[in-house]
Amino acid sequence: MKLFSERTLKKAWERAGGCCEAPGCRRPLHWDHHGQLHLPQGWLGLQRVALADRVLDIPANCQVVCRDCQQVLLENCLVLEGR
Ligand SMILES: [Zn+2]
Repeated sequence: MKLFSERTLKKAWERAGGCCEAPGCRRPLHWDHHGQLHLPQGWLGLQRVALADRVLDIPANCQVVCRDCQQVLLENCLVLEGR
């Protein structure tokens, strides 16, 4: 599940300082473990806003989150349908 380009992920990662960005979490993560949620330092670049037909591939839309937080945030993701 790779939504964002490498460039966007990198920028979001730098902003996050290599930690989970979910409020109150700040778990340290490992860059190479992107998408590997079975690992303790696994993480995802999660969309803040999901468009129906494409990915808004900008750092501002990409949250760096750990495997525990991604599930919670996924449920809160804003999905915009239609045009
Ligand atoms: Zn977290």
